[in-house]
Amino acid sequence: MYDIVVIGAGVVGGLIARELSKYDLRVCLVEKESDVAMGATKANSAIVHAGFDAKVGSMKARMNVRGSEMMESVARELGVKFDRNESLVVAFENERKEVEEIYERGLANGVKGLSILEHDELMAIEPNLNPELSCALLAKTGAIVCPYELCIAAVGNAMDNGAELLLDFEVCDIEKTDGGYVIRATDGRSVNTRYFVNSAGLYSDKIADMTGDGGFSVHPRRGEYMILDKECGSLVKRTVFHTPTKMGKGILVSPTVDGNLLLGPTAVDMEDKEDNSVTAEGFDMIVKGSLDNVSGIPFGKVITSFCGLRAVGDVGDFIIKYRDGVVTLGGIESPGLTSSPAIAEYVVELFAQNGVKFEKKADFNPYRKPAHEFRESSMEEKNEVIARDARYGRIVCRCEGITEGEIVEAIHTNPPARDVDGVKRRTRGGMGRCQGGFCSPAVVAILARELGTSIDAITKFGKGSVINYSKTKGDN
Ligand SMILES: Cc1cc2nc3c(=O)[nH]c(=O)nc-3n(C[C@H](O)[C@H](O)[C@H](O)COP(=O)(O)OP(=O)(O)OC[C@H]3O[C@@H](n4cnc5c(N)ncnc54)[C@H](O)[C@@H]3O)c2cc1C
Repeated sequence: MYDIVVIGAGVVGGLIARELSKYDLRVCLVEKESDVAMGATKANSAIVHAGFDAKVGSMKARMNVRGSEMMESVARELGVKFDRNESLVVAFENERKEVEEIYERGLANGVKGLSILEHDELMAIEPNLNPELSCALLAKTGAIVCPYELCIAAVGNAMDNGAELLLDFEVCDIEKTDGGYVIRATDGRSVNTRYFVNSAGLYSDKIADMTGDGGFSVHPRRGEYMILDKECGSLVKRTVFHTPTKMGKGILVSPTVDGNLLLGPTAVDMEDKEDNSVTAEGFDMIVKGSLDNVSGIPFGKVITSFCGLRAVGDVGDFIIKYRDGVVTLGGIESPGLTSSPAIAEYVVELFAQNGVKFEKKADFNPYRKPAHEFRESSMEEKNEVIARDARYGRIVCRCEGITEGEIVEAIHTNPPARDVDGVKRRTRGGMGRCQGGFCSPAVVAILARELGTSIDAITKFGKGSVINYSKTKGDN
């Protein structure tokens, strides 16, 4: 019998599991996919928002501002890259009123470090901005982080502190029992628990319906992106948004913590919760929107594109509620990444207010070794590691300079990588200019060797994904 089960291993569920692992509790995280961070967490803008967007007095505003305050120290403990690069919301003259509005809203939300910059001040700090821009809101607390790295690290740290992770566990039924709940998966497995947290992102409405605690719906809103090569990563230093619309924060241009340039997202309401395809129309919108903000973007340097699905609720705010031993999280769209540490903290508070006893674990270890430690060490330090383990001297991913030693480490560190994309998200092997063109076969071979299986058993991203080892074209 678990004390608390968390359904959904995205960044929110991952940070909740980590928060719970600070206490003497049996905690289990269940996830329908074959790896963690497979939902909205793997495909978003990666921005730690300052907190000026959300409606004053809303749950979103409260969680955003608190999450933004907490993120730097959480990232430091978990060894996750974080950069307080600041953000700008730029505007043409006819949009000035909106900049003033978000400035006022930010102040009312308690956001520190806000100011309005005029054209010349703006161009002085970001010379590649569109020179027709008139003014901008500068948010000194705006930052960037890697969302899947944060999720993987949070789940890994929770596991190192005793939490369990069950993958390929798609919850399909929940039954109330005398002492709690039985949570059943589609493959026949089940877990018993006293309490649980519904952190199932786009599917949180379906999970809530299973206990009769629904009454809200969540629909997907597509957001498409382009990523440019690292040689473009310094085009802007700050994250550059345009003034928001009712569909979201608009198209941004931002460096990533790994030095690429990110453009996007679009915002299109959808029905299919699984359709994360990219479209030609989406690319046109990104090109136009990003050029409104920044001039001279070298679109020929795009190395890949992707799409994320926002979990948009029907109440216009985050739903975070407790009932009968269950905390339900619904509509955790943006700024859900920013808010994730604050939501985790609040979930514990909600359980405690409702009589759950929390006793601190004496041996909780908040720290995790950074996955990028070897990659970013000096040549001298690298040579020391290589002298101890020659696998760190063998480069597998040439674009990102990732070694066999780092890949092996990712396969044997909590939560272990089991497929090619899992290795990619943990090490960046395959994330560079050639997008895995050269290193994928070597990664498959290392995975097969380390997992003691054949290469045919290695997938791209778990069930339903295959890697083709035969010719893709005929001879004629
Ligand atoms: C385009 C876009 C841009 C965004 N930009 C930002 C940003 O810049 N800053 C910011 O703060 N936020 C941003 N967000 C929001 C942020 O990404 C999300 O709020 C956050 O990732 C939500 O995390 P989560 O863990 O709640 O959801 P998810 O990451 O979706 O995780 C939910 C998990 O539940 C699992 N699950 C679902 N059903 C079941 C089931 N039946 N059984 C078991 N498991 C199940 C899913 O597989 C998934 O892994 C953006 C989102 C998108 C899509």
